[in-house]
Parts: sequence; C-alpha cells; structure tokens
Amino acid sequence: MAKISINLKEGKVNKQSNIIIGIDLGTTNSLVAYIKDGQPVAVKGVDHKNTLVPSIVHFDENNKIIVGESAKEKLISAPERTIYSVKRLMGKSFHDVKDFKDHYGYEVIDEDEEKLVKVKVDHRFYTPIELSAEILSELKRRVEQDLEASVSKAVITVPAYFNDTQRQATRDAGKLAGLDVLRIVNEPTAASLAYGVGLNNEVDETVAVYDLGGGTFDVSILEIRAGIFEVLSTNGDTFLGGDDFDRAVVEYWMKQYNWNEKDIQEDKALSQSIRLLAEEAKKTLSTKNSFSGHVNHQEVSLTKDAFNELISPIIQKTIQACQEAVKDAKLDIDEIEKVVLVGGSTRIPLVKEKVSAFFQREVFDDLDPDEVVALGAAVQADVLAGNQKDVLLLDVTPLSLGIETVGGLMDTIIARNAKIPSKAGRNYTTSVDGQTNLKVAIFQGERDLVKDNRALGEFILKGIPPMPAGIPKIAIHFIIDADGILKVQAMEERSGVKTEVEIRSQYGVSEEEMAIMLLESLKNAESDMKARGLLEAKIEAKNIILSADKFLKANKELLSQEEYQQTQLLTIQLRATVEGADKHLINEAMQQLNTYTHPLAHRAMDHNIATAMKGKKL
Ligand code: AMP
Repeated sequence: MAKISINLKEGKVNKQSNIIIGIDLGTTNSLVAYIKDGQPVAVKGVDHKNTLVPSIVHFDENNKIIVGESAKEKLISAPERTIYSVKRLMGKSFHDVKDFKDHYGYEVIDEDEEKLVKVKVDHRFYTPIELSAEILSELKRRVEQDLEASVSKAVITVPAYFNDTQRQATRDAGKLAGLDVLRIVNEPTAASLAYGVGLNNEVDETVAVYDLGGGTFDVSILEIRAGIFEVLSTNGDTFLGGDDFDRAVVEYWMKQYNWNEKDIQEDKALSQSIRLLAEEAKKTLSTKNSFSGHVNHQEVSLTKDAFNELISPIIQKTIQACQEAVKDAKLDIDEIEKVVLVGGSTRIPLVKEKVSAFFQREVFDDLDPDEVVALGAAVQADVLAGNQKDVLLLDVTPLSLGIETVGGLMDTIIARNAKIPSKAGRNYTTSVDGQTNLKVAIFQGERDLVKDNRALGEFILKGIPPMPAGIPKIAIHFIIDADGILKVQAMEERSGVKTEVEIRSQYGVSEEEMAIMLLESLKNAESDMKARGLLEAKIEAKNIILSADKFLKANKELLSQEEYQQTQLLTIQLRATVEGADKHLINEAMQQLNTYTHPLAHRAMDHNIATAMKGKKL
C-alpha cells in the first residue's frame, strides 16, 4: 500500500510508503527493520552486506555530517570530531555524566551542571537529541532506498531502564529526523516479540531477556498477561560488555609476550590494532577452538580454554545481576518460562552455556542477536499498523487526563506516562445546596487551567438526590483499557446514581500536537502556576465572604455596632480584591478578615453552646 505524491518543484514522483518501520537505536550500533512478506527483515546498506549502522557521527572539516561505518573510520584520526555512544548522553545533565566524561574522545560541555549536556565540535554545540537524529536520518535514508519510497512512521526502542526524560529525548530525536514516532518500546519487549513471545493473547508468560552488547549489559524480567507486557525488574551494568572481553585478551597477550604497556599506550595505532586483533580472536573462538594472528611482526595465539578462563569472572558478574533481577521480580528461577538472548556478545558459547545453566532451560538464540531488537520493533510496528488484530500492547498515556474543577482548574486523575491499562479515581462533592446535576468535563494536557488543555468530552451526572453542599460523595473513575480507550465513570455513592461515558480520542492528538502541548506547558509553567494561585485564592476568598455574610446575619445581636460594621467593611474590601488580579492583595484581605473575626466567632460559638445547654441537666 503506497500513496503517490508529486514534488512540483523538482518534478519528481515521490512514492510514499505506509509501512511503519522498527528502529533499534543502539549505543554501539543501530539498525532498522520492517515487515516484508509477513516476516521482519533488517535492512542492509547499499553494499547489501551489513544491517548494522555504527551509532557514530563524524563532522568533517567542512562540517559535513557522516554517519555509520565511514564515521567509525575517523575514530582514531579525528576523535574530537567523531561522536560515539551518544545514547549514554540522552536525557542526561552534565552532573549525571561527569564521572565518565573522560571516556570520550570528544568534548562534553558543562555550561550548566543541571541542564542537559551538549557536545562541542569546533565552535558549535550539539545536543544528544540532534546527534541521535542524525543516526535516525541515516536509517530512514537506508530504508527509503530499499523501499524506493519515503517513510514517515516509526517505532523506536529504548532500554527498559530508560526514564521519562530519556524516552522523551528519543522521541524528540525521531521527530527531528522527520519521523512520526508512534511508540517508544522497551528493548526486551521488542526482543520477545521477535521470537513471537507475547503475540498469543491466550498464553501468559514470564520471560527473561539477557542483553550483552559491546559496552552495556542488562537483564529484564517481563511478565506477559493477555498480550500486555510489564517489566517486573531490570538489572545490569552500563559499563560491562564485549569490550571487557577484548581488554582481557589484550592484557593476557601483554603478559604472555612481555609487551611493554607504556610503549603500547603511547602508540595509538598499535594499541588500536592490538584491540582489533583481540576482538577478532574473540569472534573466531565463538566457532573455533583456537586462534592465531599477527600484530607488529609478532605471532599471537589464543585457545578457547584460555579465553573461557579469562572471561569467566566477567560472565559471572552478569549472572549475579540475573540473580538480583529474579529476586527483585519476586520470582523463583523455575517461574521464568523463557529466556531470550540479545546482543553480539551472546554469540560466545560460554555465555550461552552459563545463562542457560542459571535459568535451567534452553535459551532462544535462533535469531541474529544483533538484529533481534530491531526485528521485534518491526513486529510491534506491524501490530500498530493494524496488521495483527489480536494483539494488545502495553503503552503509556502520552498526556495527563483529568477533569475540570471549580474555577476552571485542571484536576489530573491519570498522570502523563501512566501505564496502560490504567485505573484511577477521586472523590468530589457538590458546591451548591440541593444540587442535583454535576457536569463532568474531561480534558487532556499538562496545563493548570483547562482552557489551555484539550477538551475530550463532557457529560452530566443527573439525579443526585438534593442534599446540602458538600454532603454528596461523587466518585469519578478514569479507566483506560489496553487499546487506549478512556472510560469515565461518575457515581454518587450515597444514592448509587451513576453515569459512564467512553471517550475514544486517546489517539486523536497527533505526535506534533502532543509536542506542542508539552512545550506550551513547559513554557507557561510559571504563568500557569501564577494563574492557578490566583484562582485558588479567589475561590477561597469567595467562600470566606459567603461565611462572613452568613455569620453577620446569624449573630447580629451578639456583636457591637462597631464589630458589625468593621466585619462588614473588611468583607467589602475583600470582595473588591477578588475583582482584581493580585493574589497577594486577596490573601492579605482574607488574613485581615480572618484575624478580626476569629475572636468574634469564638464568642458566638460559646454563646450558641451555652444557649443550647440552657435548661439541660448534665
Ligand atoms: P552489540 O553492541 O550488541 O552490537 O554487540 C557488539 C559486541 O558483540 C562487540 O563487543 C562484538 O565484539 C561482539 N561480538 C560480535 N560478534 C561476536 C562473535 N561472533 N563472538 C563474540 N562476540 C561477538
């Protein structure tokens, strides 16, 4: 299914594909996949060989941007202009990353400890979002070349432990690359989907996803119930991976062949060649029993047994993390029903063996461990495209949902990023004596005043038995089901009167509108807070004026003329401030009226009690 559009300026016919692509935006490598003839496939580059695009961005002397394999070649010759591992910087402040900033060959700047970091190249500053967008653009180009059509919709994966800021940053990077990011999906969820785990709604499963890449390790325990994925626990080490195996081999050779550490450190090209040879040895030993090669006119070798001994302690660390994850998920090891392997380093036979032995079961390792996350993202994209009708997916609410309360204030019931399905409720009451109807107006957005948010709908709860204000107990519940459909229930609990409506506009807000709404809420946070403060003060003042009027009417004979007039005067003054827009003036006037009437109210109360008690024997 493809639409055709014509570019009038260039006179070209652009084919537009409806395919939603799946992207694994990795620390070391990234890749893109989509469903072709019913099967997920990772897209190869123009060389028809590699599906992996190194997550590296190089700025050449003329500031031209190069991404991927050609950028990787510049790591040694121009480290300060070649940005790698940008995923580690996503959504982070300088404060978060300063401990490992020396790991980078490029400059991570510290303009402000609390603000999000930037990378400096020459005199320009780049945000991790912009840099990631370059990688995503490269992937978009790659898939467009393959399809000979443009694509605009994507699913992007992130680690399960990514927080909201990191997820948002990933979304923004997608947007910047011209992609409508339909969903951010957890990497372990995608990996499971690639193996079809979770696609059958009838089967409930508990899955462990073990992901050992080049520089990071994580393990996640997922529970899948009726097609809904939930992350029960995650564990890992963001600085543990295949690089550590390479380093162990280099150190072994140094000892074995009496190499001088200082000589090697000083010769960048030599140390790089040794590191690359160590990696080659490691990869060879995944299928063979021994390796031999040459570096700097010297022959080096390594046997599988020696290699296994070297890496055992590193693998053991990952097993400990698995143990922790199982414990945190409050499960016994035999309750984990499936184990999925992800990441290039899980090709090592000893890794497979140890993981399989720990979980006491066979592991899923048929798919290419480097591609499995992207393949799963493509499966998820296919589900979103509506091609797999039976599958439900766990998502989060993109914007807060709530109702309008007194004075046009937004009262959030389900906060932004709550898991779907989700249920939450709150109790309300009436504000007028004898009120029999209550309007429930539902809004979506992050602003304090409903007029700045998006109206989703409204209904009226009718037939509340007449009661004094404040007595009815009205419970309002928001329920979002797995399809993202919102139901709102309102029930007066004393009488059982209830109404329920269904609102289907969860997806009515486009990605773009959502971004605008969020931006607006950030931009206006300060003025919103002021507006909310003013409104709250006005509501409180109006209540106090009502009480003061009631008080004067009920207790006229108890007060001296001066007391009566002064109370009246302070009430009039307070009423005048409510007309204005100065919260402080309102608060001051409230304070004055309260302070003045406090002893009078006490006197009235004592008098009323005494009257009530008169003639009664204790
Ligand atoms: P990833 O970050 O998932 O792309 O994983 C890359 C890591 O996997 C690097 O450390 C590679 O050296 C390692 N790797 C790739 N292929 C193999 C292999 N055949 N055997 C062992 N390690 C491998």
